[in-house]
Amino acid sequence: MKTRTLPFKKPTVNGSILFPPGNVTEYIEKTEKKNSAWVYSKSIEDPKHISLKQKYDLFINGKWIKTNKYFDTINPSNEKVIAQVGYASVKDVDLAVKAAQKAYDKVWNRISPKERGKYIYRIARIIQEKAREFAVIESMDGGKPVKESKGIDVPLALAHFFYYAGWADKLDYAFPGKNVSSIGVAGQIIPWNFPLLMAAWKIAPALACGNTVVIKSAETTPLTLFKLAEVMQEAELPDGVVNIISGDGQTGSFIVNHPLTKKIAFTGSTEVGKIIMRQTAGTDKKLTLELGGKAANIIFEDAPIDAAIEGIISGIYFNQGHVCCAGSRLLVQESIKNIVFKKLTHRLKSLRVGDPLDKNTDVGAINSKMQLEKIKLLVKSGISEGAVIHQSECELPDKGYWFRPTFFTEVAQSHRIANEEIFGPVLSILTFRTPAEAVEKANNTFYGLSAGVWTDKGSKIFKTLSKIRAGVVWSNTYNKFNPASPFGGYKESGFGREGGRQGLEAYVK
Ligand code: NAP
Ligand code: MG
Repeated sequence: MKTRTLPFKKPTVNGSILFPPGNVTEYIEKTEKKNSAWVYSKSIEDPKHISLKQKYDLFINGKWIKTNKYFDTINPSNEKVIAQVGYASVKDVDLAVKAAQKAYDKVWNRISPKERGKYIYRIARIIQEKAREFAVIESMDGGKPVKESKGIDVPLALAHFFYYAGWADKLDYAFPGKNVSSIGVAGQIIPWNFPLLMAAWKIAPALACGNTVVIKSAETTPLTLFKLAEVMQEAELPDGVVNIISGDGQTGSFIVNHPLTKKIAFTGSTEVGKIIMRQTAGTDKKLTLELGGKAANIIFEDAPIDAAIEGIISGIYFNQGHVCCAGSRLLVQESIKNIVFKKLTHRLKSLRVGDPLDKNTDVGAINSKMQLEKIKLLVKSGISEGAVIHQSECELPDKGYWFRPTFFTEVAQSHRIANEEIFGPVLSILTFRTPAEAVEKANNTFYGLSAGVWTDKGSKIFKTLSKIRAGVVWSNTYNKFNPASPFGGYKESGFGREGGRQGLEAYVK
């Protein structure tokens, strides 16, 4: 092949050289071997506009309360400590719940629904003003690409506040013919994959219905919730209406078992969901559980293949696969198996893995060392059980927690990787011959949170999705959310719905 040498003037973007000097063909071939992605200059989101404290106390009764113990929260992309946060003990939880009860009795349950709505609107608007700051902190603390936190997490979170602000004075329309009232103190526990968004899903409907809140962030991602506490202060929300604490599983269980929490909303693993269900059984607490998933993404032979490939990519590699509704089981019709593998392999090469604050990054850092170990263990089981592994060959940063986008072929239904939630960028591919077989395989799981169906025929979409036992089924798209759409699971994916008018039901009597 004829080789080209660089022109005298090197092509630049914002002053940085696009290609290194020398033989361009050689360079491209070399990098294509590792990663066929186009070579982009870095485009790092400047964290100068964020303000973070070095130490966060607990946000209780509208004030920052010191506690006895603090722990580090780190940036999983470089393992550096970002800040220290308070560990809420049983005493702190008691203080927070009592503050919430007092705020419920004295203020929140007494003011008019319209007034409550105004506060929620105010919270939404302040988050909107600080959207960029929230996005950067979310990416630093959790490892997700900033293009996702900026384009998905933050806009969706504030959209939920706007949406439920609108419902606050219209509960009679949400529940026609029923005389509904608030419950009291809601204890809310959230995971690390969408911290701000999960908080919005829970806080907004709770407040709209007249309840007060004690919410605990996950151990590895407490920071955007503390920024949210600053928003509550700026919005002049009455003291004690929202209390934000950090801690571990034990802190969570103190919230669940406190006699004054009358509603528990939990998002997390099925394992912990089962513990909470046992702990609340026989009490007067209302419970909703949003748990794990192992969604089937079904691609029929008449599907628009290129669009489906993008759906597969966003279904599993979005947020490093740290998504409860990730399309982690791909069911491909046998007749198109080869073309799907080929296109997927090609597309995998162009995924950019790296710095979450780089706007070009597609796949960021794995949230924690523990999560990385869990992913590695399940991937190892896939290999030893006989599935065939395909991985992107991209380079990974030296520091931090990383996992290459991966997919498995020759997966059997009995394999662990076909049954257990991996919660990482790992796709298991199975094949089917007939629509009936696709449905049977899709439903062959303990979970039932979500699924995807790709086909050109509307009738096939309706026929298939009416038989799939999952709370959310996307057709010819994947991972799309809207505050007006309820979200929740079947079977071991939990019960109750968040989002939409249905999301109000959990917060009223
Ligand atoms: P997890 O281990 O169950 O933790 C979730 C939350 O519960 C964390 O705040 C955790 O604190 C706390 N916790 C742990 N043990 C507890 C206990 N005994 N009592 C009360 N709280 C306790 O789940 P995760 O690993 O953080 O999150 C990943 C899981 O969440 C996945 O299974 C995923 O599918 C699921 N998820 C589901 C949805 C949905 O809407 N269905 C959405 C997002 C995630 P620590 O952080 O200290 O452990
Ligand atoms: Mg962190």
